[in-house]
Amino acid sequence: MLIVADDTNRTERELATGELTCPDCRGQLRPWGHARPRWLRTHDGRRHLRVGRSRCRDCGRTHVLVPGVMLPRRADAVEVVGEALAASAAGEGYRPIAARLGRPAATVRGWVRRFTARAQLTLQHAMRCLIRFDHGVVRIEPDPTATPTQAALAVLGAAAEAVERHFAVSARSRWQLASALCSGRLLANTSCPYPPLE
Ligand SMILES: [Zn+2]
Repeated sequence: MLIVADDTNRTERELATGELTCPDCRGQLRPWGHARPRWLRTHDGRRHLRVGRSRCRDCGRTHVLVPGVMLPRRADAVEVVGEALAASAAGEGYRPIAARLGRPAATVRGWVRRFTARAQLTLQHAMRCLIRFDHGVVRIEPDPTATPTQAALAVLGAAAEAVERHFAVSARSRWQLASALCSGRLLANTSCPYPPLE
């Protein structure tokens, strides 16, 4: 699995020109058909997504090309999940968050629990990203009263900001950028660590 831009045309163009690299061996990825289409729940209603597949020219492994707006095995857009995580970290309860987002409370609770279980892992990974991309502009003051979840979200936001500065770009969605930095694993099982940075 590889997180790619939320732009099917761009992904197909990058595949065709060999710009996408294999997450396993850094080899060149080539087009390999499509995965089944998905429906995603976004802030603006349901969205139909075509998900491409690729095969590595060197190691032969196939990789699904997951648009940055998706989280693997989740039916909701990363912006929706991110808003819930931020609201929960700020102290809002599951039920009001769920009501506001039009999602079941159990779903929101599931996201928060999963993110919380990975908070230390995410914090460490986000720190590595921040150090990798920061040019001394972003400063994180450790807050001794912050929970691991609050700390993870704060450093993740700073890391995304550092990436934007590093590449002199402005992400269309900070959450999509943060999710891509985490290889789409924000809500993965704790047994699924973050990959090392290049
Ligand atoms: Zn490969």
